[in-house]
Amino acid sequence: MGFPLEFHGVHAAPLAAAHERIRWAVPVPRTDRIRGRSHTCVCQEVQFELCEAGGLAFIRRLRVLQGRVVVHETEWTVTARAVRLWELLLRGRAR
Ligand SMILES: [Zn+2]
Repeated sequence: MGFPLEFHGVHAAPLAAAHERIRWAVPVPRTDRIRGRSHTCVCQEVQFELCEAGGLAFIRRLRVLQGRVVVHETEWTVTARAVRLWELLLRGRAR
């Protein structure tokens, strides 16, 4: 069973040999007002989401492990830094 082509979103490029290692942390509840700004395709085993909250931004990683969704996130930082990291991630230069 394939995933219909027209529903595909952004796919992150395969990881390049030279890449930045993202420091993934367990999320700490800080605010309910988190806005998704961009996300990778839901057909992938691991999904990434660029999020904004309270004037800061961060990336979320969602993985299904043993039937449960496990969420990690980057540090919350200024939007420009988070967007830069997001672009690296999409190009396979950070993961
Ligand atoms: Zn897809």
